[in-house]
Amino acid sequence: MEFYELVAQAEASGVAVMTRNIGRHHGRYLLKHRLIMLSPRLSGPQTISALAHELGHAFYGDDGPQPPELEARAWRWAACALITPALYAEAEVAAATTHLGAIARELGVTRQVVEAWLDAQDSMSNVRYINFGRIEQGA
Ligand SMILES: [Zn+2]
Repeated sequence: MEFYELVAQAEASGVAVMTRNIGRHHGRYLLKHRLIMLSPRLSGPQTISALAHELGHAFYGDDGPQPPELEARAWRWAACALITPALYAEAEVAAATTHLGAIARELGVTRQVVEAWLDAQDSMSNVRYINFGRIEQGA
């Protein structure tokens, strides 16, 4: 997904996106204002990764800095917004390696997003689809 598409998706869901100097942070989500602020100092891959991460916080209704497990949840959401299994497979072929940094470069995202995507796939492997539409979580 391209940056502008993600911004359009945010705006369609009532979340505004702006660029603002926010110190050492790459992005912030302000629940009260339904506003995502992105640092202007980021690379392209950092910017789209940070935007998707903050959209994950918006999706879950998180407000401000979160404990590690909720940060990880926002990264998994971001990863699934930015990467499909087909895109991942293409990137792995194009990179000609399973090195996560190289795959991240092919995908135009940060390595953290690739790690979160793999983490999300592991979680999905524990989901069993039984009958029609019934989902059972289990090992
Ligand atoms: Zn966060």
